[in-house]
Amino acid sequence: MSKGLYYIVKLIINIQKLGKGGTSFPGKFALSRKPDVLANFTLPDNRVFISGTNGKTSTANSLAKLFEQTGRKITHNAEGANMLQGITTTFFQKANSKYQIKSDHLIIEIDELTMPLVFKYVSPKSLIITNLFDDQIDRYGGKWALAKTLSEQLPKDITLYINGDDPTLIWLCQQLKPRKVIYFGLRKTELQKNKIDSSSNQEICPRCQRELHYEKNFYDSIGKFSCDCGFKSHELDYEAKDIDLENGSFNVNEQIYHMPYQQIYLIYNMLAVIAYASENGIKTKQISESLSQKINIAGRFEYLDFNEKQAWLNLVKNPAGLNQSLDFLDRELIKLEDMSANIFIAFNNKPADGLDTSWIKQSNFNLLKKQSVHKIYLAGDLKDEMAKVFSDLNFDKNKIVMIEHVEDIIKTEKQNSYQNYFISNFTMLNEVRNAIVK
Ligand SMILES: [Zn+2]
Repeated sequence: MSKGLYYIVKLIINIQKLGKGGTSFPGKFALSRKPDVLANFTLPDNRVFISGTNGKTSTANSLAKLFEQTGRKITHNAEGANMLQGITTTFFQKANSKYQIKSDHLIIEIDELTMPLVFKYVSPKSLIITNLFDDQIDRYGGKWALAKTLSEQLPKDITLYINGDDPTLIWLCQQLKPRKVIYFGLRKTELQKNKIDSSSNQEICPRCQRELHYEKNFYDSIGKFSCDCGFKSHELDYEAKDIDLENGSFNVNEQIYHMPYQQIYLIYNMLAVIAYASENGIKTKQISESLSQKINIAGRFEYLDFNEKQAWLNLVKNPAGLNQSLDFLDRELIKLEDMSANIFIAFNNKPADGLDTSWIKQSNFNLLKKQSVHKIYLAGDLKDEMAKVFSDLNFDKNKIVMIEHVEDIIKTEKQNSYQNYFISNFTMLNEVRNAIVK
């Protein structure tokens, strides 16, 4: 154990506090001196890591908030520093000079591909995986490739909490064979995703390569599925029942939960929290109270003051996220009167966004073909490609407007009384959000 390194890294952290330092530099420095530095730490026995393509930040934040509200002292990487360097920084921030982290509970959000790097030195004990979707295909090679990698590299001596309605996770789990698995999901509900008439959306059975049959399909590849070879969605330990999306409520084991937003994917995030917290001694009433409170994360399903109304902003990082946003807009637009909403779509294709853009063509933009839509504004590197998509779908030409300067048009629309909805991907988010709040 190196006390010298400890004090240097602490010094860097303290100097950074004075300025606006990034969350990864202290960890980066420590790892450059001692690549296995994570092995030095003594961590609380109660610990959980949270990963998955979508929902890991909000699930981790909800869990952290809940455990804090029960009076437990927690260590959590709240700034979303979920890669190796960021997690190392978090450990240094919370550790004493003997590299001990004396919290009651460790709750760490972790990037999917970072898991093997961290778990080489740290046993996660419990691991939540929310879902695996195609995301940053250039980095992962697709969700099945990612599932294969993880099935070979994750530790087996863990309690794994997974979405029992996600074929990729079910397969991963069957390959990995962890010590214990807790499944959460939904079954007996009338909810169905909007039909997407795209053949590219078919799910292929990972065992026999035939097409999976869906009895229920809630969003993306999530639902109740089966295959003739016997591969199917798993029995659930925590099942959301009596789902009322209009009023935003459901129950699990007779306890009612209220959703801060009416979104199907949110039910899954909440189920992950409910499952883990219940298995770790938190009373269901406390879980329910905590989960019904909104947590604000910039750009994630966020409502911001705009004109006399509130504008809605959502960060979209992959096809599943985009289709969820479109489903939400579908329901919103139906509620509105004629020609009363603007929709802003701001997509770049910088490396941080993922360079593969084929998924745009597979998304259900038809849901935006409604009377209540006044204009659809397109911004960012992909605006030409987006315009082509809308043209191919025979949208009214007069409604589609390509814009160069996001700020100017947002400023203009602030003077109008339309309801405004913003969808942005990663590298456009700051520009869009700043223009809204300005
Ligand atoms: Zn099969």
